[in-house]
This record gives sequence, C-alpha cells and structure tokens, in this order.
Amino acid sequence: MKAALPLACILALFSCAEGEAPRTRTEFLLGTVCSLTLYDKAPAETASRVFDRIRQIEERMSVTIPTSDIARVNAAAGTEAVVVARETFEVVEAGLEFSRSSGGAFNIAVGPLVTLWGIGTERAAVPPQEAIDAALGCIDFTKVQTDSSRGTLFLREKDMALDLGAIAKGYAADQAAETLAAAGIGRAIIDLGGNILVMGTRPGGEPWRIGVQNPLATRGHFLGIITASDTSVVSSGAYERFFTALDGQRYHHILDTVTGRPVRNGLCQVTVMAKCSRDADALSTALFALGVPAGLDLSEKTPGAEALFVTEDKLLYATSGMRESFRLTDTTYRFGPP
Ligand code: AMP
Ligand code: MG
Repeated sequence: MKAALPLACILALFSCAEGEAPRTRTEFLLGTVCSLTLYDKAPAETASRVFDRIRQIEERMSVTIPTSDIARVNAAAGTEAVVVARETFEVVEAGLEFSRSSGGAFNIAVGPLVTLWGIGTERAAVPPQEAIDAALGCIDFTKVQTDSSRGTLFLREKDMALDLGAIAKGYAADQAAETLAAAGIGRAIIDLGGNILVMGTRPGGEPWRIGVQNPLATRGHFLGIITASDTSVVSSGAYERFFTALDGQRYHHILDTVTGRPVRNGLCQVTVMAKCSRDADALSTALFALGVPAGLDLSEKTPGAEALFVTEDKLLYATSGMRESFRLTDTTYRFGPP
C-alpha cells in the first residue's frame, strides 16, 4: 500500500502444459507487482477490468493517497466521523475483528507506529524511545468507532491512524477473483506481491502447486510446495520489507504492538492458506506477531484456515490441514516437536 514491496514472497506457480496457453499481465499497484494469469479464454478487456478494480481498492484504502477513504479518516482523527465506501468500512470492521481475536497483536490502528518507523521508505530509521512511547499511546483500536447505518469511521483521538497494509492486498485478491468469476473465468492465478489466490484447478484438473519462499534464502528458493485448488496462500515474513541500521541490525516491517519495535519472537515466516484471501492476509500478519504457540493456537481455532510457521532455527510448525497440503522440499528444515 505504501512504498514499493520487493518481489513476491511466493514466486513459483507451476502451470500445466495442456489446454489453453496461459496469458499473464503485470501491473504495479498497491505498492507491489501484481500479476494475473488467465487459463480460460477471455476477452482482452477482462484483465484490464481486474486491474481497474484493484486500482479502485488502492484509491480507497491506501494511507498515502490523500483522497483515499483511509487518509481522510486519519486526517479527521479526533475531529469528525467520515463517510467511506462500503467496502472500506467492511475491511476495517474485519480488521477490528482480527485486532480483537489476536488480543491486539494484529492492530488495524497501528498507523502511528508504521509511520514512525517508515520501514519500506527512504527515511526508515530506529526512532528514539520517547517517540516509540508516544506512538504506542495512539494505537488503541478500541477507539476506532464504526457506524454501520451512516457508513462512517471515526478515530476518537487526534493522533490515531488506520493502516490496512496487512489486509488490503488480500481483499484486493478476493475482489480480483470475483471480477474474473463474473466474467466467466474459472481458472486463474492472481499474485499481488506474493499474496496468491488460485482459482479452480490446473487445466488438467489437477490442483495447483504453489511454491513457498524459503525465508532464509534469496527469492525464488523454496522451502516447500503447497498443493491446493480454489484457495489463497499468503505469507508474512521478516524478509519482505526491512532496513539495516548502522549497527548492522535488521529491522523488519511487522511491529510488536507492546514494545513498539519490529516483532522478535524467533519466527521468520508464517504462511496461511484459506479460501478468503483477506482473512489469510490478516491472519498471516496476526500469527507472525503472536508467534508459536499462541499463533498456532489461534490458527487451530480459526475455521477454514491452515498455517505454517517457520522459525529462525529452521524449525516448522503447522496445523493439521497444512501438514496434508504442504510438502517440505528443503531438507535443511525440519518439523519441530509437537
Ligand atoms: P503483511 O505484509 O501482510 O504481514 O503486513 C505488514 C504490514 O502491515 C506492514 O507493512 C504495516 O503496514 C502493517 N503492520 C505492521 N505491523 C502490524 C500489526 N502489528 N498489525 C497490523 N498491521 C501491521
Ligand atoms: Mg497480512
């Protein structure tokens, strides 16, 4: 949503030789490389329609576009409620639900901290402790007021700010799929900067095979493969967006809402598989912030979602459904004790 994200965290999608030749189109949207691969016959304007829809979502949910719903809500913090598009309202409500279910580890009102660290921007730097403390005082998501009948959002205190960076890409992937389905497309791969959604099956009827980025290797090296159809696969990782400070320490973009600093819990990646990409996106960030075992606990309790956790010591933890869909290919990793 903000600065450019590096390339996809899940890069390889293995297609099938038979049937219609797939056609891929790529655009830079939502601060990342978005690509669409269609396996069904479709009029040329279909892909444009999908990218227009993603652009519309960006124009509503970006924090940096001053006319977006979210920027307007943030600008009116402590002053007044703002009418937003229905879908913005609903994504924020979903974000609030994840904020509650994760006990605040995922926090839809994390904006002040995200801005302070500036990770992914040129001004990224370790902020002074007083600034971190001040930002921590402005991220209380229970002070986000939603009014469904009026369609408004209101931040009750002046320096509060919403940030949809952990959920909007997933929502956009769902909407891209809906746009394609409405155009009669049943087989496609939507890849919004590594936020993957596969529609249908491979042309031969086999499930898709989705490579999961090895979090400790360069891009395009996989940890293993998820085999699934009609699903979304989303990873959150410490390697996705970070900066290296003068002391050589790396600081990544998922922030601990208690310390106000990048999460340090021994995890380097979480991958979530779910039908709804919005939920997979929010959940992967939430589980990363929660760590093992609290994250494993929440994922086991979330119906329809499966998760894979990767630690810095190359241990894997997975929900039972993920164990069935995931095949480990990098044998320098192993499953941790149950
Ligand atoms: P993701 O790449 O989906 O895991 O989301 C990371 C992005 O979400 C960051 O770049 C921030 O914009 C935002 N973010 C960072 N920390 C949190 C958090 N604890 N809760 C919710 N959003 C966060
Ligand atoms: Mg996310």
